[in-house]
Amino acid sequence: MSEQLDTRLNAMTVDVEDYFQVSAFEPHIRRVDWDTTPLRVQANVERILDLFAEHDVKATFFTLGWVAQRHPGMVQRIVAEGHELASHGWEHIRANTQRPTEFADDIGRTKAFLEDVGGVAVQGYRAASYSIGRDNLWALDALADAGYRYSSSIAPLRHDLYGMPEAPRFAFAAASGRLAEIPVTTLPLAGRNINCGGGGWFRLFPYAFSRWALRRINEREQQSAHFYFHPWEIDPQQPRPVGLTARTRFRHYLNLKRMQPRLQQLLVDFRWDRMDRVFAEAIAAPAGLQQPAFAAGQFDGLGGSAGA
Ligand SMILES: [Zn+2]
Repeated sequence: MSEQLDTRLNAMTVDVEDYFQVSAFEPHIRRVDWDTTPLRVQANVERILDLFAEHDVKATFFTLGWVAQRHPGMVQRIVAEGHELASHGWEHIRANTQRPTEFADDIGRTKAFLEDVGGVAVQGYRAASYSIGRDNLWALDALADAGYRYSSSIAPLRHDLYGMPEAPRFAFAAASGRLAEIPVTTLPLAGRNINCGGGGWFRLFPYAFSRWALRRINEREQQSAHFYFHPWEIDPQQPRPVGLTARTRFRHYLNLKRMQPRLQQLLVDFRWDRMDRVFAEAIAAPAGLQQPAFAAGQFDGLGGSAGA
């Protein structure tokens, strides 16, 4: 019986960006310097593809247009090996710093470019640093207008840089039922939602915690989780820019050496597949999902109560 429960599928995802493109490095590495900074993303993605092939895992790669433009062969390998190609925006500009016209241009350009290079339809989008929340819910409508079918851009938790703790923890209908939003995987513990779907938390907590949390979501809540990580997280040799704050250093470099073995254990302990297959039902019929009031354009009252 428990073996059967353990077979629930979860989605494995990779946010394809280089180490210097993370939001926390914005004050330290200027965008104009990106083109003269040696790139490490392709080599790291190649290692990830090898790892996935070894474990027979298919995944979703949320890819920056900027990276795809420089490494089209890498994008084509992602597609050729049976993974899902999805969009992480053009150059990691956080959605909540963009005007609606800028956002529309960004997501449209990225989708068209990835489809051209990859030769496949792009249905999924993840905002840089989970930067869709209560202040820019219009972005979900823009994604549906641009032809995206799902988004994985909201973090239903409290964090200093992002988060919308009042958002549902599991897939919900956005853009008047035209788009499925599949939020970061969290577990409620001691009155707050804890991120158990990847990022710094996965490197901070002992692996046993992550395994326990994901099993709890699969078995007790009978829900699929999704996990995210970045190519730079399996690259302990990456250059370390000077001048980073202590908090950024802690978050970015913590336990990088432990990441790959932990990831391998995660690949063994759970069953994984692409976002578009794990959440196929939600993506095919978003109108049938739970629809929170804010996603129906009635979030004025909620915005006030959630502002604390
Ligand atoms: Zn990112």
